[in-house]
Amino acid sequence: MTAPAPQHPGPPPNGPGPASEVLPRPIEVLRSARLADGALVDVVLAGDVVAQVVPAGTAPATAPEAELYLTGYTLLTAPAEPHAHLDKALSWDLIDPPMGDLGRAVESWVAHQHTMDVAEIAGRARRQALAMLAQGTTAVRSHVDLLRTGDPLRGIRALVGVREELAGLMDLQLVALGNEWAPDSVYEEAAALGVDLVGGAPHMAEDPIGELHRALAIAERLDLPVDMHTDESLDGPLTIVELARSTRGWSRPVTAGHCVRLGTLPPEQLAEVIAEVVASDLGIVSLPITNLYLQGWEHPVSTPRGLTALRPLLEAGARVSAGADNVRDPFNPVGRSDALETASLLVTAGHLTLTEAIALVTDGARSVMSLPEAGPRPGARAELLAVRGTGLGQVVAEAHPDRYVLHAGRLVSASRVTTTTALPTSLMELA
Ligand SMILES: [Zn+2]
Repeated sequence: MTAPAPQHPGPPPNGPGPASEVLPRPIEVLRSARLADGALVDVVLAGDVVAQVVPAGTAPATAPEAELYLTGYTLLTAPAEPHAHLDKALSWDLIDPPMGDLGRAVESWVAHQHTMDVAEIAGRARRQALAMLAQGTTAVRSHVDLLRTGDPLRGIRALVGVREELAGLMDLQLVALGNEWAPDSVYEEAAALGVDLVGGAPHMAEDPIGELHRALAIAERLDLPVDMHTDESLDGPLTIVELARSTRGWSRPVTAGHCVRLGTLPPEQLAEVIAEVVASDLGIVSLPITNLYLQGWEHPVSTPRGLTALRPLLEAGARVSAGADNVRDPFNPVGRSDALETASLLVTAGHLTLTEAIALVTDGARSVMSLPEAGPRPGARAELLAVRGTGLGQVVAEAHPDRYVLHAGRLVSASRVTTTTALPTSLMELA
């Protein structure tokens, strides 16, 4: 098959189509892509890196199977998910939990744990990771529970296996998530199995500050970065200041997820707390869909949104990212595994601009995850998502299912849908 001349790209002749296409496929040139700033460009790749971004129609010729026509698509940095729970994902129908707040969700989840084995956890985690990849997310950081019944490491074993299976298609980072019930030795075994970070949820412990210090000491001993569930409540303890002060000057990156409590503080106190966050360079993860669901059940009137203090954090220069947290499990019954859903919620519930919202689920997330810079810029990693739509507004609003996903310069997922809608006869001629 001969490719059309670059200056007349026409409809995308991208091969036989996703249904029969064999992937992954290395890509050398992306043609006629619209960038978020409106520029129409060709993007030249060199292996897993973006080599050049040039005006559309000017990239050199290449073999047809190594090019992708993106007329009508907007090209973004591929999203990264900074806070998932792949071990919990897609368990809603199995557990059939009551709806409710964080405490209720934890109860339902813990009661279900004895039924899960490594293969069952791996099956759900794999399905969920691939669903996220198909939507464009090429890197995921997943917290994985140290389980309270049976072998506490079943989830870790499952996820280490899934990480290995999917290597080459997406990057998976694993966080050992325990609390006061998990002795140091279980964290140590998790590290030996290959987890990447030490996690925890000290705000839910009997002694939040004591539990925080225990987790940090474990991380220091294991020489691993830290990612803590932090202050996930509207009026509970405030542990983030202690997290910031205790890790100041650390070479290992430190992340604080949720930080719901931060969004409830009066401005003066908030400014002091954010100064501590910035001084320690904590990475902040906002999780709108899950916090909107789990928070505020005790406030039937003027229900708070439960998001962290997004605008003040951004204005203070903190590293901020956003993710989805849970998908279809006791902590969140819904979710489309799509970073564009998170971006849309950041606009609606967080009052961020479209540009800020996309930045939080792409470049911001990669920064918090300590991943190299990616996107359609020379020298950046070729982690890319093309979505049908002209510009960020249409892309975030419609979240069109037509997508191309590139990881390390290779096309790893392609989706195209066909829609046929009846028209009144009087409009047939206009169609
Ligand atoms: Zn979480």
